[in-house]
Amino acid sequence: MPLLQQELAPNPEETLANYVRRVRMSLGLSQKELAGRAGVHLQSVGKIERGQTTRLKQAPKSGLAYALGVPVEYLDAVCKGVAVEAIASLKFCPRCWVPGTPPDPMWTTTRSKYCFACSSALCDRCPDCHKPVESLKFRFCPYCGQSYKK
Ligand SMILES: [Zn+2]
Ligand SMILES: [Zn+2]
Repeated sequence: MPLLQQELAPNPEETLANYVRRVRMSLGLSQKELAGRAGVHLQSVGKIERGQTTRLKQAPKSGLAYALGVPVEYLDAVCKGVAVEAIASLKFCPRCWVPGTPPDPMWTTTRSKYCFACSSALCDRCPDCHKPVESLKFRFCPYCGQSYKK
């Protein structure tokens, strides 16, 4: 059963360390697997989960968000210790997004509605069955099997 976005949202008061560990475990990934998917060093994941890293640079942050299947805004929220008020949605440009690659953080920002590069309207749901996009690690909609990008 696909995980719901809400389950993956950070809890109030949750630290970056606890959050990353919780989502990683819920996905059944080892630290090494997470590091591999996120394109960061295993040591970096260890430091994050031990609470030694509390701020993330842009590149590891988007890598981790992608590997964990959560919006970058969730990681921003736990780093800053603020609640995720407006739930950021996974959005992608139907023209520029390359399926199987992390969405550009400029698309997943809650305020974004149009692509910064080609000004297409961003998609946050399956073009066929209109279920929300669960994870852009998928190339296909888990509900109806259609490709997210035509
Ligand atoms: Zn575009
Ligand atoms: Zn669908």
